[in-house]
Amino acid sequence: MLWKGRRESDNVEDRRGGGGAKAGGISIVGLVVAFVAWKFFGADPQQTYQATKQLTNQTQSQQADPTALTAEQKEDGAFVRTVLADTEDTWIPIFQQNSMQYKQPKLVMFSGVVNSGCGSAESAMGPFYCPADQTVYIDTEFFKDMRTQMGITGDSNSSAKEAGDFAKAYVIAHEVGHHVQNLLGISSQVQRARQQSSKVQGNQLSVRQELQADCLAGVWANHNQQRTNFLQQGDVEVAMDAAHKIGDDYLQKRSTGQVVPDSFTHGSSQQRMQWFQTGLKTGDINRCDTFNSTI
Ligand SMILES: [Zn+2]
Repeated sequence: MLWKGRRESDNVEDRRGGGGAKAGGISIVGLVVAFVAWKFFGADPQQTYQATKQLTNQTQSQQADPTALTAEQKEDGAFVRTVLADTEDTWIPIFQQNSMQYKQPKLVMFSGVVNSGCGSAESAMGPFYCPADQTVYIDTEFFKDMRTQMGITGDSNSSAKEAGDFAKAYVIAHEVGHHVQNLLGISSQVQRARQQSSKVQGNQLSVRQELQADCLAGVWANHNQQRTNFLQQGDVEVAMDAAHKIGDDYLQKRSTGQVVPDSFTHGSSQQRMQWFQTGLKTGDINRCDTFNSTI
């Protein structure tokens, strides 16, 4: 996958610590200060929290010093900024063609733990999109986990320790797909429907929502290919390998040896590959109606 030399997005905030240091979220320093202030000065907890937040932000901006990042982190940062810009340059015109305006999401790169509009989150949960603050969160170390822990294929261009570039791009495009769903009002509809349904029905809605995000990631890849001709030999196979290895059945089988379809929340390997490919082949968002299709 070709990505160097294209525009990088300004909508990325880098909260990573250098050399594997853990930054982001409420730092241990912030917590100690808040506790001391509360205990000894009888400070109002709300004010203390605000003060903590300010302090945390300061800590974060200090730790986001680009000189503190390793060469690999810098490369990952440039990659993430480029792919996010690619999604902006795809979704802005698609929304325009449908007489809508694309509000660009933010993306936060973090290390270890992060404070989001959806609460605090750990890297172990994987990359995620928070609808409340319209932000994608990603610990770029996940690119390594994809290869070393999930066994997702690398490619000749990607770092030997990471999954292939197009597999990494697919992950970002999938999260941006959730942002598109949010802008279209699909996320809130799903949330309302889930509140009125059983656990199994709720899981099925979740699967349809996730498969749609996969399809939208495919739509992005189709349009980005037309615009930049970025795909190289073997890239589609790399993304398919990723879609396969993040399928619920694959992950369940790997961790427990059993497959329980009712508990699926993201879809099977077959479904994930199929819907990503539908978007990739057609480039048509209307083909991504996973809610009214047989999945
Ligand atoms: Zn998802």
